[in-house]
Amino acid sequence: MGVKRTERKRTGLWTVQSQSASKSVKVYTCPGCGLEIAPGIAHLVAWRADDIMGEENAVAARRHWHTHCWRVEP
Ligand SMILES: [Zn+2]
Repeated sequence: MGVKRTERKRTGLWTVQSQSASKSVKVYTCPGCGLEIAPGIAHLVAWRADDIMGEENAVAARRHWHTHCWRVEP
């Protein structure tokens, strides 16, 4: 498990966790650019820190982002 941090975006408060290349074994679609994140690419996982349905619900709805795409997300 990577280090967790909290970041504020225009959409609210998010918990962000880095995912190392060795732990990345599936293909994900990045919500920032709509392109695939191939296996073996270090990226990050984000879920709402302010979900009114609770963290369990937020984690279930987590999204995988390219590191760059998350950084430029306002
Ligand atoms: Zn992306």
